[in-house]
Amino acid sequence: MHWESFYVNPNDIRGDELFFSQEETHHLAHVLRKKKGDRVWAVDGEGTAYEVQILHVAKNEARAKILKTRRRIGEPVAEITLAQGILKGEKFDWLVEKATEIGARRIIPVTTATSTTVAGPQKRTRWQRVALAAMKQSGRSVLPEITPAKTLDQVLAMGPACRHRFVAHTGPESARLRIQSDTQHVSAPKILLIVGPEGGFTQEEIQRAGEHGFQFITLGPRRLRAETAGIVLLTRVLSQLGELE
Ligand code: SAM
Repeated sequence: MHWESFYVNPNDIRGDELFFSQEETHHLAHVLRKKKGDRVWAVDGEGTAYEVQILHVAKNEARAKILKTRRRIGEPVAEITLAQGILKGEKFDWLVEKATEIGARRIIPVTTATSTTVAGPQKRTRWQRVALAAMKQSGRSVLPEITPAKTLDQVLAMGPACRHRFVAHTGPESARLRIQSDTQHVSAPKILLIVGPEGGFTQEEIQRAGEHGFQFITLGPRRLRAETAGIVLLTRVLSQLGELE
């Protein structure tokens, strides 16, 4: 597949034809200067990629014929959720973009005892748009979900449904990341990662995570900024699963 793809809403696929939205048509026709007869790739954000030939370009819509269909192109074997303490300013945008490129399936903005930033619906819409652009640019076919903000306790309660649950933590109880090699043979293993906000976790939060069966992971002897820690932990997990080779 060509790296750059266009997004098609699954509801706009009819038979062997699909229709691009006004926004995608603008990008297709006016930014990338594609025209009738050109072949491009479209992804539906639900795991299907289509090679299509453009049939018609109008002002608000483009129509294309499906030539080839591929499933789960660009998707990692594991379903990784990155739950990250909400970050100030545009740092969370950066995190969403990078985590999408690397392979996160879901990103949860988490409110913790030291969080000061709130994540309302407007921010969530913005982050979802950032994820969409990163999905298209990186050659993925699944659009990562940016969930509404959750409390740390809500995230800890998701642990039992996951094969692995890790918390990035700078304390002495942390160990090196080790993912058993048999994880690669499990179909779409779920992995839950939690990373603190700028102010870190309180001792009480760390204790609750331990009680919920989370493993504490060190990311080395240097204290990383929260957004760096999120990306490093995600990268290390995908690397151990052989997904960054
Ligand atoms: N004062 C906080 C502390 O010492 O935990 C600093 C918080 S750090 C800026 C933000 C988050 O990044 C932490 O809660 C942790 O999840 C993660 N983090 C940063 N550096 C780390 C490291 N070397 N090992 C593990 N986690 C780290």
